[in-house]
Amino acid sequence: MATLTISAADERRVKGMGFLSNKGTDNFSGRIITVNGKVTAAQQRCIAEAAEKFGNGIHHRFYEGYRTVKLPHKFKIAVGGCPNNCVKPDLNDLGIIGQRIPNFDEDECNGCKKCSVEKVCPMGAAKVVDGILEIDKDICNNCGRCIGNCHFDALSDGTYGYKIYIGGRWGKKVAHGRTLSKVFTDKEEAMKVIEKAILLFREQGKTGERFAATIERLGFENVEAQLLADDLLERKQQILDAQLHVTGGATC
Ligand code: SF4
Ligand code: SF4
Repeated sequence: MATLTISAADERRVKGMGFLSNKGTDNFSGRIITVNGKVTAAQQRCIAEAAEKFGNGIHHRFYEGYRTVKLPHKFKIAVGGCPNNCVKPDLNDLGIIGQRIPNFDEDECNGCKKCSVEKVCPMGAAKVVDGILEIDKDICNNCGRCIGNCHFDALSDGTYGYKIYIGGRWGKKVAHGRTLSKVFTDKEEAMKVIEKAILLFREQGKTGERFAATIERLGFENVEAQLLADDLLERKQQILDAQLHVTGGATC
């Protein structure tokens, strides 16, 4: 497990200033709090400097890589660091949520009467049953908060991953995105799923409809199967070369 150098008191202190801890790491996500939506030239320079120093993201591959590609409608991608949903990834066409999957070593578990893991779990997913800790995978949201909380090293590590939501939208017609059944532990695999979702939307979406409507029309299981298979990426050039959505048609 990585050694954390930032105290809980400091974490709380900077939270009110807009810096949210990426649990289990020494990293923080920064919120930009403006004065009534205005940012001065000096503040913009400061933001730009911070972005250059600390920023990362998916900007080049998808925003720059696909901004000239015509789609049936806009396609919003939201990225959240943890399952707290602060950027509401499930209300965007595609949302990504950071995951830290607890690696529980049952051989080290003593079935304590007062389990410190059970105590910190905000979802009620971790419970000692018949003398051993059990984590209910259907309830656990992989927030990673329990990692490092067992004094007997039964839960000292976790695997980083990504959960992907598809088909969310905000605005006039709200739709909650649904998660793909797989939690991705390989970053490139997750990036490929995003690219496949854009290609699917371009190829199979009707001009003017949002991704949520495309998924509803094609069926979630069908769309998920395509996003987990290789076919869309193998046909990438063919999909990009096709004459599609040339007339526009978005209504908002
Ligand atoms: S996970 Fe750790 S604290 Fe919880 S019952 Fe097992 S040994 Fe005890
Ligand atoms: S990862 Fe989060 S939700 Fe899952 S068992 Fe640990 S604390 Fe509970």
